[in-house]
Amino acid sequence: MYKSILVPVDILEEGLTSSAISHAVFLAKLSNATVRLCHVLPISSAIINSYAMGYAELKDRASVKAEEELKKLIAGIDLPEDQLSYSIAFGSPRDEIVSMADEVDADLIVIASRRPNITTHLLGSNASGIVRYAKSSVLVVR
Ligand code: ADP
Repeated sequence: MYKSILVPVDILEEGLTSSAISHAVFLAKLSNATVRLCHVLPISSAIINSYAMGYAELKDRASVKAEEELKKLIAGIDLPEDQLSYSIAFGSPRDEIVSMADEVDADLIVIASRRPNITTHLLGSNASGIVRYAKSSVLVVR
């Protein structure tokens, strides 16, 4: 049924990430779908201006850390290597995730609903933005 599943992960939120990933992997196994993990580094011009280093250097440093985390997650996933990939983007998580879904022709996006320690809402702002703007189906894992 699904051919290309995109799993945007907030690498700082381990519990959330692992439940979204296990749902994605379960579904991927049913139809030999590919799973792409992605993380968006929300680097804004305000942050860049507050650092002495340039934009390129800041991006490099941030993406090395993100790449390490994504590789760790990939290593723990029980799927053939050719069905797994990851990518890193910079900017607005919602916009980057929506355009990444187009790029990989995702027919499903799997996300977690929100950070568990935030009790004021049931759907986080990134999660709700993805649900509203993505063209594909979105599975919100709670
Ligand atoms: P909250 O506002 O409670 O933190 P979010 O809407 O930001 O909730 O997070 C819900 C889900 O959105 C995450 O589990 C993840 O799937 C996705 N997400 C949030 N931030 C990012 C990010 N920077 N990169 C990739 N995915 C993200």
